Amino acid sequence: MKRFLLTIIFLISITAFSLAQISSDWIEQEIRTKTVWLENQRAALIQLPSYANTNAYDVTYYTLDFRFDIASSILYGEVTIRGLAAESNLQRIDLDMDDNLSVTSIGGDAFSYTHRNNILSLQLNKILNENETFNVSITYSSLEKKNNDRGIYFQYHDSAPVISTLSEPYYAHTWFPCKDRLGDKADSVDINITVPSELKAVSNGTLVRIIENDDGTCTYCWQERYPIAVYLISLAISDYTYWSENYFGIDGFSSMPLEFWIYPDFDTIARPFLNMTADMMTHFASLWGEYPFIKEKYGQVQFSWGGGMEHQTATSLGSFSEMLICHELAHSWWGNDVTCASWKHIWLNEGFARYAEALWREKDEGTIGLKNYMTDLNRPSRWRAGSLYVQDTSDVNNIFNQIVYDKGAWVLHMLRGLTGYEKFFEILKRYRQEYSGGFATTADFQKKCEEIYDQSLDWFFEQWVYGVGQPHYQVNWQAYRHSLNSWKLKVAISQIQTGATIFRMPLTLFFSDSLNDTTFIVTDSLATQYFTFYCNFKPDSIALDPDNWVLKNATYFNFYSEPQTRPEEFRLHPSYPNPFNQWVNIKLDLPYDIPGRLAIYDLTGREVAILQDGLFKAGQYKTQWQPQGSASGLYFVSFKARYIHLRQKIVYLK
Ligand SMILES: [Zn+2]
Repeated sequence: MKRFLLTIIFLISITAFSLAQISSDWIEQEIRTKTVWLENQRAALIQLPSYANTNAYDVTYYTLDFRFDIASSILYGEVTIRGLAAESNLQRIDLDMDDNLSVTSIGGDAFSYTHRNNILSLQLNKILNENETFNVSITYSSLEKKNNDRGIYFQYHDSAPVISTLSEPYYAHTWFPCKDRLGDKADSVDINITVPSELKAVSNGTLVRIIENDDGTCTYCWQERYPIAVYLISLAISDYTYWSENYFGIDGFSSMPLEFWIYPDFDTIARPFLNMTADMMTHFASLWGEYPFIKEKYGQVQFSWGGGMEHQTATSLGSFSEMLICHELAHSWWGNDVTCASWKHIWLNEGFARYAEALWREKDEGTIGLKNYMTDLNRPSRWRAGSLYVQDTSDVNNIFNQIVYDKGAWVLHMLRGLTGYEKFFEILKRYRQEYSGGFATTADFQKKCEEIYDQSLDWFFEQWVYGVGQPHYQVNWQAYRHSLNSWKLKVAISQIQTGATIFRMPLTLFFSDSLNDTTFIVTDSLATQYFTFYCNFKPDSIALDPDNWVLKNATYFNFYSEPQTRPEEFRLHPSYPNPFNQWVNIKLDLPYDIPGRLAIYDLTGREVAILQDGLFKAGQYKTQWQPQGSASGLYFVSFKARYIHLRQKIVYLK
């Protein structure tokens, strides 16, 4: 009864879950948008002159002052940059600055400049030794309307102006001169934005004051005092509806505002989702350590692009859904506080934020919610070929691709399965502590995992991060009477995937009948590996990895040894249940030995699973098909031998 109830609950939650997933197109949008930016950037990089000395200095601080001629979509900026020489005899600072921006004047330690090929070269009035500081300032304006998909965007919503930015991966330099690269975070930034008094201006960090000017404008003064990558600096301006609430830290005494700026007509749409933020933040803080920017705020502000963008302490949102809010919030830890050191390691941002979605589902729905969410992310048909680690970053489609999100989340889930709950979250906490405010690579993360797990994980990262594909396990098993109260279980696990190596993984095997169950854990690492177990009942079913800790496909195959009768004819029994939701039982009678192929086909005739291929001994076969990553719909069970073709319709309902 308990099992029956559980099945019903499982069916209900699958239905609810599927509905929830249908509305999650935002991740597709995020990928599309980020791909477009990167493509544009690549074109710009081709033009990047080789003389640019952007590695010769570190930026420590920016002051950014912005004003606008909104009617003409023109930006006026004044930028002050402080930095340190990273080499001796430094007399020139090359900044990234789009040719669409026009310099009005320079100051500080700069006495002359050239501006071409999107590089602003500032000649200094002194020669710097390594670690000596410089201070330069630039006033400028944009040359023309900039209504395109790069950097800053002038738009209207319901006749109110909306000015917003999106700089990932390298578009900050289209709206202010800067060092527009990964690898150098500024220690702090001041952002002062002057707008007509009826508008609100939102940016990173803390709003320290609003200055009322005499000309009907006011100036919003924001201060970001945590290290920040330049692509995470943002501004968003409109006639927002504003509200806030308090977040209380997990230490019990620190607190911080959660702030919301939404288009007035979106209030009722957005609020139910945004109201979940505090609970999500409390949950993630308890898992990973406190929200990284607790001395400032967590803001969410509506903007003109699709999906969302994890601007530091000021997430931009183009739409509203529970998992979008969750994903962008999780980037505060993974992406903003700890930033991937290059695009090859993008899974350290996106895979982590994706797994946060599963953790939030787990918080809500428990183990079954986590299991279902991970099942839904096991969709290799949506992934590009190749490894999770981006070997070739010259093709942008390799970087922002579903594999980075979904398989990235799976790698974390498998690490948790391997190391156990305590150690896994210890790894995440310590990894974050060590790389907080900086950059990390896959090797850095692996090192932290090995430190806590206290064993080499080369084999794990080699197969799951740097290697390709996933295992497809075919489980063959038989039960024999061993003694009066004991049964011998013989299990053969074959890895039948093509185009991938043989995987090494610990696997749980769960045997049951209607009254009993038992579990065994094995380490599987061969093309075909045999295991023998003993138990005190005769199981009628087996499940490999029943709690779904391993990214895989699995098919089951069971030869009936009792009663030892030879069937009289070839027969494919009616499969059951049909329609089915989790798995379908398939029964086949063979009167004599025959080579054949038992497989599943979809409506178009495509083979979606091979259940068994090769010589079939005479007897009665019972097997199961458990679709993973297949769509709901009509399928065919097919047994094909030389002169025989048995076929049967089955219906899979997710
Ligand atoms: Zn993301």
